[in-house]
Amino acid sequence: MFSDSQNDLEIIAVRKTYGDFEAVKGISFKVIKGEYCCLLGPSGCGKTSLLRMIAGHEEITDGDIFIGSKRLNSLTPAERGTSMMFQNYALFPHLSVIDNISFSLKIKGESSQKRYKEAMNFLEMVQMSGFENRYPDQLSGGQKQRVALARALISKPKVLLLDEPLSALDPALRVRMRTELKLMQRELKITFVHVTHSQEEALALATTAVVMNNGVIEQIDSPLNLFNKPKSKFVAEFVGSHNIIKSGTGFSSLRMDKTKVSDNLSKNIKTGVRAKIADIEFLGDSARIIMKNKDQTIIASVDDVSFIKKEYTVGKEVFCHWDTKDLHELEY
Ligand code: ATP
Repeated sequence: MFSDSQNDLEIIAVRKTYGDFEAVKGISFKVIKGEYCCLLGPSGCGKTSLLRMIAGHEEITDGDIFIGSKRLNSLTPAERGTSMMFQNYALFPHLSVIDNISFSLKIKGESSQKRYKEAMNFLEMVQMSGFENRYPDQLSGGQKQRVALARALISKPKVLLLDEPLSALDPALRVRMRTELKLMQRELKITFVHVTHSQEEALALATTAVVMNNGVIEQIDSPLNLFNKPKSKFVAEFVGSHNIIKSGTGFSSLRMDKTKVSDNLSKNIKTGVRAKIADIEFLGDSARIIMKNKDQTIIASVDDVSFIKKEYTVGKEVFCHWDTKDLHELEY
C-alpha cells in the first residue's frame, strides 16, 4: 500500500510488542506534510514506542510506515528523512556547540567550510549566535534545547520527531520555548511529530493531536475539537477541564467553564444537582469551585474571583447547573 502524496507521513496498522506485551496495538493514521502533530497520552500508552519506530530506533513488529511513497521499515535512521530531538537533548559533551550542530554534515563528508557556514545559519535561526564555541555544560537548559533543535534541523528532515522536548525546562521557559517551537515549525513548514503527556502543550502546539491510551488511538482531532467534542470518557478526562455527567444510560462531558453555580436552591432549574463546596482553588485570573455530593464531584471554573470570595465559602450548599446545549454526549 502506497501513499501517493509526497512527504506525508503514514502509519499503517503498526504494532509493537516487547516479548508477550503489546505496547502498540495496530494503529493507523496519516500526518499531512507541514502539520504539527502531537502524540498525546498518559505514561505507558505507547507514544514513545511509536515515535522510535518512525525514527528507526525501534523495530516495527507489524505494519508499515511511509513518508510519501518511501517505505521506512527497513531503512536506517539516517536514510529515512527523519531527525530526532531527544528529551535530554543528547548533545555530545566533548564537542563545541558548532561541532554538535554540524555533526551530521561531517558524517555526510561535507567540507569544514560548508559545515561551518551551514551551522552558523542554524545557530542564528535558534537565536544562539555568539555561543558557537561553548560546550554543552556551559549552556542553560533552554540554550541546550535550542542547540539540539538546530542540530536536528541541519539535516533538513522531512519529518522532525520530538520526544518530550520541553519537559526538562522550568515552567516559564517551557511556555516561551513552546511558542518559539511553533513559530519555527510554521516558518520551516517541516512536519513535526511531538510526543508529550501534557494536554496543555498539545492543545497549544498541535494542528492535529493524536490521543493514545493503552496502545490504541482514542481520538485524532484538531485541538479545538478535542476540547469541545471529546469522543470518550478517557479523552474528556485526559484533556481536562471537563466534568463527566451521567446522562440517560451513558455519559456526557460538560466544560468546567460552562458549569454554573447558584446559591438559590429554590431555583427551578432541571439540569443540575445540589452539592456542597468542598474547596475553592484560586488560580490568579480564575478560580475552580470544587463541589461534591454523595454521587459525584463537579468543578466550575469561573473568572470572577472577587465575586466568589464574597459569595461562596467551603461547606456552603449550592446548586450546580448547566444548559443542556452544553452537554456533549460521549460515545464510550
Ligand atoms: P512515557 O510517557 O512514560 O515515556 P510512553 O507512552 O511513551 O510512556 P512507551 O515508552 O512507548 O510509553 O512504553 C509503552 C509500554 O511498553 C510501557 O508499558 C513500557 O513499559 C513498555 N516498554 C517500552 N519499552 C520496552 C522495552 N524495551 N521492553 C519491554 N517493555 C517496554
